[in-house]
Amino acid sequence: MFAESLVLVLMCWVVTSAEDLYMSRALKLMSEIPLIDGHNDLPWQLRKLFNNQLNQVDLNTLETTHTNIPKIKKGRLGAQFWSAYVPCDTQYKDAVRQTLEQIDVIHRMCHKYPNQFMFAASSQDIMDAFKLNKTASLIGVEGGHSIDSSLGTLRTMYQLGVRYLTLTHSCNTPWADNWRVDTGVEPSQHNGLSPFGKQVIAEMNRLGMLIDLAHVTVRVMNQVLDMSKAPVIFSHSSAFSICPHKRNVPDDVLRRVNESGGIVMVNFYNDYVTCSQTATMSNVADHFDHIRKVGGAGIIGFGGDYDGVTRLPEGLEDVSKVPNLVAELLRRGWSDDEVKAALGNNLLRVLKRAEEVRDILSSNKPDDVPIPNSEVKNPCRTSYDDDDGDDGGNGGIVHSLSVMSFLLSVALHTIVPLITS
Ligand SMILES: [Zn+2]
Repeated sequence: MFAESLVLVLMCWVVTSAEDLYMSRALKLMSEIPLIDGHNDLPWQLRKLFNNQLNQVDLNTLETTHTNIPKIKKGRLGAQFWSAYVPCDTQYKDAVRQTLEQIDVIHRMCHKYPNQFMFAASSQDIMDAFKLNKTASLIGVEGGHSIDSSLGTLRTMYQLGVRYLTLTHSCNTPWADNWRVDTGVEPSQHNGLSPFGKQVIAEMNRLGMLIDLAHVTVRVMNQVLDMSKAPVIFSHSSAFSICPHKRNVPDDVLRRVNESGGIVMVNFYNDYVTCSQTATMSNVADHFDHIRKVGGAGIIGFGGDYDGVTRLPEGLEDVSKVPNLVAELLRRGWSDDEVKAALGNNLLRVLKRAEEVRDILSSNKPDDVPIPNSEVKNPCRTSYDDDDGDDGGNGGIVHSLSVMSFLLSVALHTIVPLITS
């Protein structure tokens, strides 16, 4: 009896030691390469919970969010694309203002906590922040509705530090179809990207802004992969073969991401991990394994979607838990180099390449050809581009076509998912 107990104790000790070894190896790798996460909606929580009144918030003690400073430290978060997200129902209304306010709150957050966050707008900035033991803080705008079909707005957002644009959220824009079209609940408006949508892609290449294909239709994914001069990102999407949700990435696209040197940053939202309301960390690791199998370890990253979703896997409940997943990958036989690629090297490669493409295209002029008025679909938009010599001529003119499209789109958007995922 005593011998059996001893064996049991010894077995437990061996297992625990092995677990400790994986975790200490994970933490060592995370000290060498920054964990770069593609998508976090803390700024949206700041709007929802505090109306962006950052003075009323202490990120050291805030407990109601997946993300706060102690959790960030524990989770070894090296760099974060903070999401400047505003819902689709701001489209054709005040989407641009609200997006600017989200960009502002991210800048203010960095300013308020200079020991924790360092604003970052380049691959070099990410490494500089990492060396200072701070979380590099980048901005991604989630949804093409945020630029109101305006290349001038896109360029201005780049100047404000925005380094990726998700082409759509969960609604079509006047120039790109969103993933819900692939589910059949929403009709295609452009069969992918419109000609103006292709102008947006070319301008993003010229600027050095990453093109984020999370949330678009498979047709848009392929069109962008056909034409983009820089590698693309999926800032928070998982593998369709593991969970056949239309927000996830199909295998043929994973292969194309590999060919073009891009990245798929895995989303932890239960509904995209298991296609059900429950999931475990091991289920998330299955997505990592699958993407590695189909596209190689060179296309994988982390895109937790913390504070943008309501259900997260057991073992990955908040940003402090991510080292558990890194240890799990090691337990599954991932090499140190593969883990480092997923942690940060892949995203750094993609961002560096986008910066190189920007430099190569630096002699190209900014595109100043606007979207045709007939395609704008925004009845609130004024226009002064008539050539009849009367400055006030077209101001406030509402195109009847736009009104009809607008009413149609309102009718089609009676139910838009409330989550930001
Ligand atoms: Zn999302």
